Amino acid sequence: MDIDDTPVLDNHLHLDPVNGRNVEAAAEFADHGGTHLLVLNKPSWHLVEKATDEATFREVFDLTVEAAADASDVLDGRAWPVLGVHPALVSKLVGDGHTPAEARDIMQAGLDVAAEYVAEGRALAMKSGRPHYDVDDAVWEASNDVMRHGFERAADVGCAIQLHTEGGEDFETVAQWAEERGLDRTQVVKHYSGGRLTGPVKSVLADKDELEIAIEADEPFLMETDYIDDPDRPGAVLGPKTVPRRVRWLLENGHDDAVRTAHVETPKAVYDIDTEATLER
Ligand SMILES: [Zn+2]
Repeated sequence: MDIDDTPVLDNHLHLDPVNGRNVEAAAEFADHGGTHLLVLNKPSWHLVEKATDEATFREVFDLTVEAAADASDVLDGRAWPVLGVHPALVSKLVGDGHTPAEARDIMQAGLDVAAEYVAEGRALAMKSGRPHYDVDDAVWEASNDVMRHGFERAADVGCAIQLHTEGGEDFETVAQWAEERGLDRTQVVKHYSGGRLTGPVKSVLADKDELEIAIEADEPFLMETDYIDDPDRPGAVLGPKTVPRRVRWLLENGHDDAVRTAHVETPKAVYDIDTEATLER
């Protein structure tokens, strides 16, 4: 199989229509054989001064919906927005003098707005999680409450949810929290995952070693760059052409089945999207 014979999806990439390369980054992805994108809103404080109310979340989400539509124009496939609240917002809010409980309420309100966009068909999925760095117990509890609220809302509107969390391989408890709230673990995606994971579906960073581990594990998986589209940190993350490059490498090494898993079957199972039917070369 050749790269032209398959959809190529980056499951987690940011586009910044205010300060970043935006559609130009999507075009670079397309030039290298990429076809489909899930576009995540940037942490709210990057795009607007502060997201502490519903109106500000809407402003951030509208920018991302627009960025995904513009990206779709340069893709043979299409882009979909994924909206939510970055877990590090809790620290910003507490740093600004809010109690952890107030921070929790603000972030849950943001997730409610994201769920509304999904219910209206303006976004594909939600995003939540908990800090990847050490926090005190009250902030950790508040963060877990926010994430569990995200599971409830995703179950309500019938969508998948991507998680930003600490590193590690065992997220069985988190998957159980989702299932206790009516959301199947097959609709919970751990973004920035390594090749091995228990609990949610893994979205594996497009690193050769981790991809080989994922192939060995022979479970559903997605591929991503977590490209951040930040002109101040050009080398901080993988660039938009990385997923297409890794797909070429996988195909050269005979991993056609793994490419089908990550770019056709898992996207369909998790998000109910058809990357083949939405592809016109
Ligand atoms: Zn990200």
